[in-house]
Amino acid sequence: MFTRHKPGLHHLLAAIGLDVSFERADGSYLYCFNEDGREIEVLDFVTGYGTLLLGHNHLELVATATRFFAAGKVNHAQGSIRHGARALANELNRRVGGDYFTVLANSGTEAVEAAIKHALLETGGRKLLTLHGGFHGKTLGALHATANDRFRKPFGQGNFEVVRVEPNDIGQLEDAFASVDKPIGFLFEPIQGEAGVRPLTTTFLQSAAELCEQRQVPMIADECQTGLGRTGDFLRSHALGVRPDYIILSKALGGGIAKISALLVNRQRYRADFDLLHSSTFADDEFSCTIAMRVLELLDARAIELGCRSGEALKEQLEQLQQKYPAVIADVRGAGLMLGVELATCDSSLGFLLKHFADRGLLGAIVSGYLLNEHQVRVSTTLSDPFTLRVQPSVFVTAEQCGRFVASLESVCEKIDRRDVVGLTRFLVTKNGRVHRGSSATAMASVSFTSVSTASDHPTYFFRDHPMTPRTGTRRVGWIFHLVDESDLAHLDPALNAFSRKQKSDFCQRLSLLSEPIVMDAVNVQSMTGLSVSLVPILLPVTSRWMLSNKAAVHLVKKAIKLAERLGCDVISLGQFSSIVTRRCSETRASELRNSPIQITAGSNYTVVLARQAIDQALKMQGLTADTLTLAVIGGGGEIGRTCATVMANDFRACLLFGSGRVGSLTRLASVAEGLPGASIATDLQDLRDARVVVCATNGTFPSIGAEHLHPQAIVCDLSVPATLRSEIVQHLPQLTMLPGAIVDLPGHECFGIPGFPLSPGMTYGCMAEGLLLGLEPALHAAGMIETSPEQAERMARIAATHGFKVSMPSSSCATLGTVA
Ligand code: PMP
Repeated sequence: MFTRHKPGLHHLLAAIGLDVSFERADGSYLYCFNEDGREIEVLDFVTGYGTLLLGHNHLELVATATRFFAAGKVNHAQGSIRHGARALANELNRRVGGDYFTVLANSGTEAVEAAIKHALLETGGRKLLTLHGGFHGKTLGALHATANDRFRKPFGQGNFEVVRVEPNDIGQLEDAFASVDKPIGFLFEPIQGEAGVRPLTTTFLQSAAELCEQRQVPMIADECQTGLGRTGDFLRSHALGVRPDYIILSKALGGGIAKISALLVNRQRYRADFDLLHSSTFADDEFSCTIAMRVLELLDARAIELGCRSGEALKEQLEQLQQKYPAVIADVRGAGLMLGVELATCDSSLGFLLKHFADRGLLGAIVSGYLLNEHQVRVSTTLSDPFTLRVQPSVFVTAEQCGRFVASLESVCEKIDRRDVVGLTRFLVTKNGRVHRGSSATAMASVSFTSVSTASDHPTYFFRDHPMTPRTGTRRVGWIFHLVDESDLAHLDPALNAFSRKQKSDFCQRLSLLSEPIVMDAVNVQSMTGLSVSLVPILLPVTSRWMLSNKAAVHLVKKAIKLAERLGCDVISLGQFSSIVTRRCSETRASELRNSPIQITAGSNYTVVLARQAIDQALKMQGLTADTLTLAVIGGGGEIGRTCATVMANDFRACLLFGSGRVGSLTRLASVAEGLPGASIATDLQDLRDARVVVCATNGTFPSIGAEHLHPQAIVCDLSVPATLRSEIVQHLPQLTMLPGAIVDLPGHECFGIPGFPLSPGMTYGCMAEGLLLGLEPALHAAGMIETSPEQAERMARIAATHGFKVSMPSSSCATLGTVA
């Protein structure tokens, strides 16, 4: 179904097979339906990003909620004395064993905001000290937009700077404290959750506490994730021997039923005016406070101890797994029931696909998809470290459930260890009857304008483990191309040959939702003059069909152009459909190339030159002279067709121009014919039989031409993408000369090493060759888009001759159909 909710996320979930909706939940389990409508039980180790420390729908909490509403209690009575909030504040103070006032809020980020606001009010500071990797929420300063000065000004307009230091680096922290003039406070997570479950050391935290004490700035513990017993103690800070001035709690406090968070501020520091300045409509509601009170009762010392023991046993099992598969699991970290399993990054020895997922920050997501679909176990990665799986079961998790989880993870390790990419990703292309997912096509329909960005900003390199070095000396030429169809997928990773054609197609469909340009190995291409140029092929891992049918194609090409620019390319050549979808660069001209020194080309000029040279040679081989013959140009109104007609028509006795029949086609043809004596517009395909030489330059919109339309001995050069001529024509007309599209013999006979490249070593397509020639001739063109014109074609012919680039001719007079890039 078309979604109006979070289309970007929906897109990503669909791509990695996580687009499942759950129908009910109980304890450690979630339930969904399979394709046959049968209920499937899924073991949940994500547990609401740590919210469900008591599991899903704890019976006592459900009963409390039901009783609350059945009794007709007052939920919202803002601006009155709130019994529930008072009771909760007292209970939280008792549980943390200090002397704190409490401010309630609705989510973690709001409680963090409240803490920073309070610290601003308290210290009048300007710089907040915190840690690299820290995660404290995602809100963006609504106070800035609030007009009332009374609420905004006490917090210094909300403007402050953040100074970050490396976790566990005491020296850096000391320097930061020494250099910051007016610190607001020191904000930290005792275990950095979203950064990949990374614990702070006792010595670091204790030094931080001393520094805070010396400078009299508040020590602010964000225990949204670590607090309330998840890590084996009520507060992780206490376990590390520090007593923070501010404590932030959330997640488990609402028991998975209420949305509630709390900021506790030491009484000595608390500013009573804060209550009057800071408020939130839903904070202090009676319902959430009642639930939180019940949660605190249920999370008694016994429950926390139970969870801690389960966590320790689970960690031990995970560590054993790591010892068994050190190349797959890089680390196991955390405490209590807040554990992280870090997957090792992949190098190219694991095959292209696994490396691609890893480079894109998607390996953890693929593992999550595999575990859900193949083992009905739910895990996810931490938000800032896509390689770390978060393992956060409830305190009631059983040994059997932990065993099942570890066994499922072991199967991931085995698969990665054996480089079994097919086993790991088969779930993407099969309906396994286990969980019911949406279709990737539906997700595409929702977001057709862009592909989803994932955690990684780095390009994927094909079988190269290190980024390309900055350019020195030799000029670089980027060539953008894509897969022809799904069968090309196996050229990238031969393991995928195990998939059927349909499965490959499904696989491509899913991956295209996440597609990013891939950089192939650079190859030096030699000129006859001794100069050389470096070719950087950039692959768009999508099929021709996808390029033509998806609006995101333009976006993808633009990304590739940006990437080529980042890699130091001086020239970019748009191969295959990348020039068509960007309307021969016009889509990219304005935005991508403004202020850029890069030359960009669709390769049309050299394509025209090659067509002409191929035809000239064919005529010569057959002892024919052009001035006695008729030339037909199909697609004569288009850029290539028009230029071909212009440079060749005068050589022939007559020139027939056929158009696409689309709106404006006749007008375009008329303007071409006007400047060419001997040229005329043709509309009847029967007239094509008069032409001994035929050039096809359409982009697939021309009605296909059959044997019956052609002169039986015609010389045909089909430059179209896709080909205008049906391939079986050759069988029906044995005397036909079919010239290859626009293929070049390179003087240095280089092999590009591009998997699946269909030409023999030493040959390439005209569009790529034009890029190479522009790279070899730096002074030729100004930056920007290279126009297609007879003059430019003429120049390309001259440069090609200088550098020894030659049209590639078939040895026999009757070649097979050539595809055109
Ligand atoms: N602080 C910490 C330590 C967190 O882990 C999170 C959430 N992962 C937050 C703050 C933000 O919480 P919320 O998503 O409820 O705003």
